[in-house]
Amino acid sequence: MVRVGRGPGEMKDFKVLREAMVKRQIEARGVREPRLLAALRTVPRHAFVPADLRSQAYRDEPLPIGEGQTISQPYIVAAMTEALALGPEDKVLEVGTGSGYQTAVLAELAAEVWTVEIIAALSLRAQSVLSGLGYRNIRFQVADGSAGWPEAGPFDAIMVTAAPADIPPRLREQLVPEGRMIIPVGVDRQDLVLLSRKEGGWREERLFSVRFVPLVERRPS
Ligand code: SAH
Repeated sequence: MVRVGRGPGEMKDFKVLREAMVKRQIEARGVREPRLLAALRTVPRHAFVPADLRSQAYRDEPLPIGEGQTISQPYIVAAMTEALALGPEDKVLEVGTGSGYQTAVLAELAAEVWTVEIIAALSLRAQSVLSGLGYRNIRFQVADGSAGWPEAGPFDAIMVTAAPADIPPRLREQLVPEGRMIIPVGVDRQDLVLLSRKEGGWREERLFSVRFVPLVERRPS
C-alpha cells in the first residue's frame, strides 16, 4: 500500500499509483492500444474526484462525485474508449460529462470532444478542472444529451456514460457513415453495446454486462 502524502511528494505518489493502475487493472485485463495506455498514464485521475477521496482515486472501482453520480471504474473507461478505436483526427460526442475524467481521456486521443451533462453543477466543476489542466479541445453543454448535439454533429464516435432503456435514435442520426457508438443499454441488467454504422446498415455487438446510472430524460437542472 502506497501512502499518499501532501506537499512536494504528493504528485510522485499519485504517479506511482497511476502506473500501478494501468499495469494491474488495464494492461493485465488485455487492453493493448499504445495511445490509450499513454493517455491513462497521463491524465491525473485524482484531480477529478472530491478532495477527501483523492487517495482512493486509483482504486479498481467507481467513486462518488456528488449529486448522486459516480466516476466510472478505470477499467470501464479503458474498455469503452478502446472500443471506439479513436484516431487523432476524430470528433467525439460524450453524453454524461460527470467528473470529466473520461472527457480528458477522450481529449488526449481525439481532435475534438463535445460533451453534454444534464447536471449543471457537475458540468461546471468538470469545466474548471479540465481548463486548469490545459485542455483546449473540449466544448461543454448543459442539456439532456439523449438529443445529442445536432448543431455540432455529425461525429466520428459517440460515448454514452449513462444507461438508457434503448439506444436514443437521435444519437444514431449524429454518427458519420463509418461512425461508432459505445453505450450501456438496459434498465435492470445493462449490457455495453458497440454500435457501428456499416454500408448503410447497423452492426450491434454486445460486449459485457455493466452498471451505470440511468440516462435521465428531462430538462437540465
Ligand atoms: N464519464 C463520467 C460518468 C459519470 S456518471 C465519469 O467517469 O465521471 C454519468 C453522468 O451522466 C452523470 O454525471 C449524469 O448526471 C449524466 N447524465 C445522466 N443522464 C444524462 C442526460 N440525459 N444527458 C446528459 N448527461 C446525463
